[in-house]
Amino acid sequence: VPELPDVERFRRIVADRAVHKPIVEVEVRNDTILRGTSPRAVRTRLVGRAFSDANRHGKWLILAADETQLVAHFGMTGALRWTSDYSRGDADRLAIRFGDGSVIVSDPRNLGTIAVLAGADDPVAVTGPLGPDARDIGANELEQLLRTSRRSLKATLLDQATIAGLGNMLSDEVLWQSRLDPARRADVDRSELAALHRAMRNVLSLAIRAGHIPRGPTWLSGQRGEDDPICPRCAGALEWRRVAARSSLWCPRCQGNRDAPGAMC
Ligand SMILES: [Zn+2]
Repeated sequence: VPELPDVERFRRIVADRAVHKPIVEVEVRNDTILRGTSPRAVRTRLVGRAFSDANRHGKWLILAADETQLVAHFGMTGALRWTSDYSRGDADRLAIRFGDGSVIVSDPRNLGTIAVLAGADDPVAVTGPLGPDARDIGANELEQLLRTSRRSLKATLLDQATIAGLGNMLSDEVLWQSRLDPARRADVDRSELAALHRAMRNVLSLAIRAGHIPRGPTWLSGQRGEDDPICPRCAGALEWRRVAARSSLWCPRCQGNRDAPGAMC
């Protein structure tokens, strides 16, 4: 599932390869990915123009061209790549061609979104309300957002209108690294807030550097897919639990009641 680090990688591909180059052709291979626009309108709006900027807000990619902007979400299985020698892949949905190569959006399960708006339109019409980007959020801002939430900590972190960019895997990773119970209320105290903010910055910076969520030996994410997942910190058994309507992987020992035996491992 593409999360913030993956979308940041897609953004960099566009920024490094495609920005300021004239768009020669746009090919929509499957229009189920388009929202509120037709293949013909996409072509009319983009061909002959150039992207002037590649931005990301949460899990949304926003590409500005003169008087128009392309807004993309990658759903569960979407990806973006650059190729100089384009041979069609079965899951390719959109190809934007430049003189020396193409930006290709693929999406096997067709759960992504691409919209093309006028330059003056607010992308919120497509993205819905988005909170501050998880990568840039300050500790004070995070405290404010958590204090006003009445939901569980994990539900609050997942809510894109509160904080933009954290999906299921990133939320579980951040909560595990900060030793906080995903199902507890969001009103963290000072030291919990500091731990949460530090983990968020650390997880995101390493994940962005890797271009995806790392799965190394010190990461909770490395235990996903294991039949008997083991906590990389305390070697206790990890558990799956339904929190915020999502399957959540957590360590009851590290992330449980701090007064319980073994909780401070
Ligand atoms: Zn543990």
